[in-house]
Parts: sequence; structure tokens; C-alpha cells
Amino acid sequence: MADLNIEIYGSQVLRQKAEPVQNIDAKVKKIIQDMYDTLHEKSGLGLAANQVGILRRLVVLNNPNINEDMALINPEWKEVDTEKETGEEGCLSVPGIYSKVNRFRKIQVTAQDVQGKQLDFLADGLLARIVQHEVDHLNGILFIDRLSPTRRLVLASKLSRINSNGDNG
Ligand SMILES: [Zn+2]
Repeated sequence: MADLNIEIYGSQVLRQKAEPVQNIDAKVKKIIQDMYDTLHEKSGLGLAANQVGILRRLVVLNNPNINEDMALINPEWKEVDTEKETGEEGCLSVPGIYSKVNRFRKIQVTAQDVQGKQLDFLADGLLARIVQHEVDHLNGILFIDRLSPTRRLVLASKLSRINSNGDNG
């Protein structure tokens, strides 16, 4: 069991854009397995490769609808309609901070699975939220970036305390 180190707010790798995966080779499969182990160890809902210091477009998550793990390779999504929904989010990379975030309620997701099979599915509610949160990570975006300026101001001192703890928590 390989439990990977989680990159914490302040780390540059969380602010960088991850590169597409070209070949789903043994190395990529090993990273995914290690990411699953880390997700379980930390009891997270989802984990993007940036969060373990790897700039590849890889996400693992637990599908809350069927309580089953899934890996999304090169995931993309688009909204099905304009309806948004507010829900509480936290992040393994931003420990101790929880806040309500507005996201699209229903999205269409495309990705490849670990066998290289093309996935194309509708997601709504919590699953849609997790996918949007994780794909944000692949683009260097954190959920706190999506909060209102007022809410960010409220969280500012907590955030600066995380930051001063250094690159790795
Ligand atoms: Zn996160």
C-alpha cells in the first residue's frame, strides 16, 4: 500500500496545469492505484494528481451514487443546462476549511478509464460536484478561488496559517 504525500495549499504544483496522459502504461496504472490507496487512507471523496505532486490529467473518486471507485483519465465536462446548486466543499489540500460553493448541477462527463475505454456519462448532484472540483485541480484552480470576495476575506487568516506551515503538511 502506497500512501502518497498530499500537497497542501501554498504548494506551487496545486497552481499548475496538468498535462494530458498519452499512454495508459504500467506507470500510470501504478499512480492510479497509489491514488486510490491515498484517497481511502485520507477518507476523501476525490483526488487529482496535482494533489500528490504529479502534473498529469488523472482523477480518482468515489462515485457516491453506487459507492464505487472510479478513475478518470483526461476528464472533461460540460454543463447540461445553466442550473447551479450550492453545496459545502472541503479539500484534502486545504485542511480545516469548508465552504459552500456554487457549481453546475448536471454535467456531461467524458474521460478514459484505466483500460483506455472511452467513458461518456451524465452526472448530477454530489458526483457532478466532485468531478467539477477535481477537474479544477487539474487546471490549477482550488475551490476557495470560487468563493465570493467577502467569504475569502473571512477565511483569509485561516488560509494564511495553512500557507505558513510550508509546502507540505
Ligand atoms: Zn480538492
